[in-house]
Amino acid sequence: MSYLDSYYARTLADDRRRPALDGTAEADVCIIGGGLAGLTAALWLARAGKSVVLLEAQRIGWGASGRNGGFVTPGFATGFDHIARIAGAEQARALHTLSIEGVRLIRETTEALAIPGTDPVPGIVSALRHEGADRLMAQRDRLERDFGYRVEFLSRAEVQERFVSRKYFQALRDPAAFHFHPLNYLRGIAAEIERLGGRIFEDSAALAHRLDDAVKTVATSRGKVAARDVVFTGGGYIGRLVPELARSFLPIATYVMLTEAAPERIATAIRTTDAVADNRRAGDYYRLVDGGKRILWGGKITTRLSDPGDLAERLRQAMVATYPQLDGLKIEAAWSGQMSYARHLMPQISRLRPHLWYATAFGGHGMNTTAIGGKILAEAITGESDRIRLFAPFGLASTLGPLGRAAVQLTYWTLQAQD
Ligand SMILES: Cc1cc2nc3c(=O)[nH]c(=O)nc-3n(C[C@H](O)[C@H](O)[C@H](O)COP(=O)(O)OP(=O)(O)OC[C@H]3O[C@@H](n4cnc5c(N)ncnc54)[C@H](O)[C@@H]3O)c2cc1C
Repeated sequence: MSYLDSYYARTLADDRRRPALDGTAEADVCIIGGGLAGLTAALWLARAGKSVVLLEAQRIGWGASGRNGGFVTPGFATGFDHIARIAGAEQARALHTLSIEGVRLIRETTEALAIPGTDPVPGIVSALRHEGADRLMAQRDRLERDFGYRVEFLSRAEVQERFVSRKYFQALRDPAAFHFHPLNYLRGIAAEIERLGGRIFEDSAALAHRLDDAVKTVATSRGKVAARDVVFTGGGYIGRLVPELARSFLPIATYVMLTEAAPERIATAIRTTDAVADNRRAGDYYRLVDGGKRILWGGKITTRLSDPGDLAERLRQAMVATYPQLDGLKIEAAWSGQMSYARHLMPQISRLRPHLWYATAFGGHGMNTTAIGGKILAEAITGESDRIRLFAPFGLASTLGPLGRAAVQLTYWTLQAQD
């Protein structure tokens, strides 16, 4: 399987293929899924001296992690107050602090490994599409008071200097958040795992398993892995491999497009290297790529997983609704990806039973939380920490059955109707 056509696949720093698993491999830990969750867990396990085999059904970063918007910002797919209602205010603060650590983790890993082609650019703006200066200033003050985390308030005039659109009002700018090339990042981590002795197999979907014995086995079409611990990190693509997990999340699709190169035209609209997301739940998020020559624009969510035929046109219309001056700009590629959402909208990170782990449901705000989720899962497996207990209030809530289906519908409406 090849990568689908995206900006990231067009600008790979290295395109080395990994072999498919053939025969039997043994390891301390077998990880299923080579997205950000699985690779980060594998990296930290390998660093802790564990032998690791990672199975990826397609290619490294083929799923959401290698085709997303590339925004790395603190927070979760749901807001602080919602988290506090379920877990309590103190735990919600600990979780937010963890999400800040997730941002730092990606930045530091990128730098420490000098991963080529990641192109990190600091600065993410979260903009309102309605008047709300007081609310934003209160939010800025709360972040500084509760977390010592500094963001900048931008007035409407300051926002419109950067983003020349009448749609925007005030904004908060996070100078510590950044945007980057996620697929090159993942491939860089994969290379580091292999340097440390870990083995990665592409085109190697886990198809069956025996998980009740002390040594568990996971079978692919041409081989099998025998391991003491097994980790499921298949994101929105895991399907029905593990029934308990399949029941507990809803795959949701979201979309991204890439414009043609037209730097002068684009500069009439976007005059900053900062990325921007508007504050609607399924709102627009976009940034300049290719040295400012193109726009990478994301938005929309659907429960329908097959791509609409007019995907590129729908995204183009969203762009032109914000920037009429960009009407006529051509779209060169458009693609979708699947995220996994739990009913409570929070990641699910825990173990099903001893030596059987999962980290999934990272939703649409997943880069920071998926990275830190993978790391704390590795810490749980090695016994270094039990930080995964922070996610204990967010268990495997079923999305099946009449009540479950109603909850799923509600979740979806919550996501979409917050526009
Ligand atoms: C279009 C899009 C834009 C997004 N934009 C952003 C953004 O800008 N910022 C942000 O923070 N978040 C964003 N997200 C969310 C973020 O990408 C995800 O939350 C995160 O990448 C999830 O990582 P993951 O490792 O759990 O899953 P994935 O990256 O989907 O990885 C799962 C992997 O498991 C593999 N797999 C599945 N089943 C099997 C099996 N049986 N055997 C072997 N392998 C298997 C899949 O092939 C896949 O490669 C976006 C998501 C999408 C789809």
